[in-house]
Amino acid sequence: MIKRDYQLKYMSWPQIKNKIDSGCDTVIIVLASTEQHGLHLAECTDEIIGLGFACGLAERLKNALVAPPIIPGLSEHHLALPGSLSLKKDVFRGIARDYVDCYIRHGFKKFIFISSHGGNMQETKTIVEELQAAHPDKLLRNTLSLEFLMKLFSSFEKQYNMPVGSCGGHACAFETSVMLYLEPELVNMEEAKAGFVGTPDKEFLDNMFKYGIVGVSEIGVIGDPTVANAELGEKFFNAVLDEMEKCLI
Ligand SMILES: [Zn+2]
Repeated sequence: MIKRDYQLKYMSWPQIKNKIDSGCDTVIIVLASTEQHGLHLAECTDEIIGLGFACGLAERLKNALVAPPIIPGLSEHHLALPGSLSLKKDVFRGIARDYVDCYIRHGFKKFIFISSHGGNMQETKTIVEELQAAHPDKLLRNTLSLEFLMKLFSSFEKQYNMPVGSCGGHACAFETSVMLYLEPELVNMEEAKAGFVGTPDKEFLDNMFKYGIVGVSEIGVIGDPTVANAELGEKFFNAVLDEMEKCLI
């Protein structure tokens, strides 16, 4: 269960003002998504995972609060399956920019971005670079990259004897494990089914580009969620927090 303690949306303005006055100068902003996550996970999966990481990081940092997550994200490649939403890039970018402008007016000085959805990651990098250039007196950081996650997935697959590609990145052993750790009631393991499992090759990328996720998996899964468990989720969770802390040094 994700704690409410660090989330701005659960606080009153005097509580927020007191926090700022006592040295809390950092806001963590999650860029999530509302999109299909296979047969067994809810559409809010990236929101829950991102919030979980953000609140975990806030707990470690002591001087940070967590913004209401930005949802939906950039999910064009999931639109073939019902429920998924996708923003235009300039709208997505504009919302992130407005978040930072507002929080600067309240006195916050540092902004940590977490993208909990692969499709947002390239854009998040650009948004953070642009915002840093626009606000040279403030500190902006992007904490999660696709490269880091890919390395983490393959090292966990080896270490915990999971088939190669089971942490494929979407509704996979990684996301399902983290959800089992954070919000198990939103996971229906009885429905969990493997989607594309393997190493993405040129054909995979071509099909993904041409047809979106249904071009590579008709159930909308990249990876194998059936090998997921909460214990693994906690390990993943802590490894991601360690990486995010490193990005802030
Ligand atoms: Zn996801």
